[in-house]
Amino acid sequence: MRILLDMDEVLCDYRTSASALFSKTFEELDTLFANEHGWWGGEEYDAVINKAGLEFWENLEPFPWTFELIDLIHTLRPENWYIATNPGKHPHGGYGKRLWLRKHIPDHEHRIVPVKYKFLMAKPGVVLIDDHELNIQEFIAEGGSGILFPSRKNVLKSKFADPIAHIKPILENLCKSQSKT
Ligand SMILES: [Mg+2]
Repeated sequence: MRILLDMDEVLCDYRTSASALFSKTFEELDTLFANEHGWWGGEEYDAVINKAGLEFWENLEPFPWTFELIDLIHTLRPENWYIATNPGKHPHGGYGKRLWLRKHIPDHEHRIVPVKYKFLMAKPGVVLIDDHELNIQEFIAEGGSGILFPSRKNVLKSKFADPIAHIKPILENLCKSQSKT
């Protein structure tokens, strides 16, 4: 069993930093900038993020559960987990995320796989943990397993206060039912 872990909204609090940068609430940013999949973007949005440079990405805050989550996954599959994160179209995003990993979990920086199309890695024996329903749906459709991570925005928002309590039993059962490799 291989585990792929999403980064934004799972390990790092992208939305709070973006909200602070724009001095707007999540709801205001949704109204102004969300596309049909709920991701914020567009020319005006991108210009502000780009101007904030590498530092914006490097300084995203970890969530209260981030390090516990890393420990859990590393314990379950010490040599078979990776961080699958969309580098996006912002020029600083890919390297900025790498700097975030170097700052917070340097032992695992090398696990980064910058990829928008996470379903390309889907196959039996691989599970994606991600907060976005679309990524999970695509991953399962291509033959992988998926665990939706609770976020402030998805259908599991009621579990957001303690997302590990939600995903831990699901992940442990999945790992138990699959081979060790
Ligand atoms: Mg995400």
